[in-house]
Amino acid sequence: MIRTEKGTAIIDGSKGEGGGQIFRSTLTLSMCLGKAVLIKNIRAGRSKPGLLRQHLTCLRAAQSICGAQITGDELGSTVVTFIPGEVKAGNYRFSVGSAGSTTLVFQTVLLPLLKAEGESELTLEGGTHNGMAPSYEFIEKCFVPLMVSLGYRIETELDRYGFYPSGGGAWRARIFPSKDINTLKLLEAGRVEQKSALAISANIPEHVCDRELKRIGKKEGWFESKLEKRLVRSAGPGNILSLTLEMENVKEVFEALGDHGVKAERVADKAYSQMKRYVEASVPVGEYLADQLLLPLALGRGGHFRTLQPSQHLLTNIEVVGLLSEADIALNELATDKWDVRV
Ligand code: ATP
Repeated sequence: MIRTEKGTAIIDGSKGEGGGQIFRSTLTLSMCLGKAVLIKNIRAGRSKPGLLRQHLTCLRAAQSICGAQITGDELGSTVVTFIPGEVKAGNYRFSVGSAGSTTLVFQTVLLPLLKAEGESELTLEGGTHNGMAPSYEFIEKCFVPLMVSLGYRIETELDRYGFYPSGGGAWRARIFPSKDINTLKLLEAGRVEQKSALAISANIPEHVCDRELKRIGKKEGWFESKLEKRLVRSAGPGNILSLTLEMENVKEVFEALGDHGVKAERVADKAYSQMKRYVEASVPVGEYLADQLLLPLALGRGGHFRTLQPSQHLLTNIEVVGLLSEADIALNELATDKWDVRV
């Protein structure tokens, strides 16, 4: 997958998941470790290979925070070289120009900026809720609080919702230099302190949110939970149902995006079944948080957490971190759908 040629690490983007993540993780690692990289076969595993708007925005965002020398920065590109420079804190605006995920752009530049000297403010424009990436609420309620518990200093604020397929969302992130980072130990979720369901919609009939919440409210033990409906403005139509479990040691978020022709009740069932799997496995870290945690741990002070059966995204991140950094990562199956990850 990798061979070093005159100091440039070569990453084969067709490996593992074969999607955008290996590209983004390589950029983040390259900036944090100061390593030049050549990424080939970008998104070779996808029906439309090469850089889409979101990935191109990640590349340009990475380039602008560290003044990297790059080649291949165009839509559809399948080979990119990236020679990082020094990461500079500052005020940056990154626009995806479609419903492509702004949260993935944020995660690409977050760790390098956390390690930079000085404070940064990012304005991120594009998709905030697209179903294939963390939503803004996932970042706000699940990812950022865990990062903060590790000692990273991040604040976020949503300005506009941007649902797939219209996009048009905007949010801001303030990122502060973070030096004293803790080692993560997250083996048990602990007692459930609060359950809440949030149904958000824009430009679609109100009964969609009502039906999603009603469906969740009927589930065992959920009638007494916080059920909130939020009707918002957005450039286009959209709907998401977001279930949050606040536990003693961690917060987890389970989501499903509404879509044309998909009944509100099915959307509710989809979010609920993810949560049910997580609760039944009795682990603290859900499927998506697991792959998103890997880089912060590998580039921070490491850690030990328990999660579900590793996804392709987690396995891909383990592979790329192992190839580009010194971090040792061990995966160990404890039971069905219960795994230990040590970084
Ligand atoms: P492609 O695979 O088409 O290149 P991509 O670049 O948009 O697409 P992926 O490489 O698939 O994205 O990575 C998606 C990221 O989004 C992963 O880190 C995954 O954990 C996260 N993610 C996906 N769905 C959810 C969800 N429902 N909640 C939280 N995070 C999610």
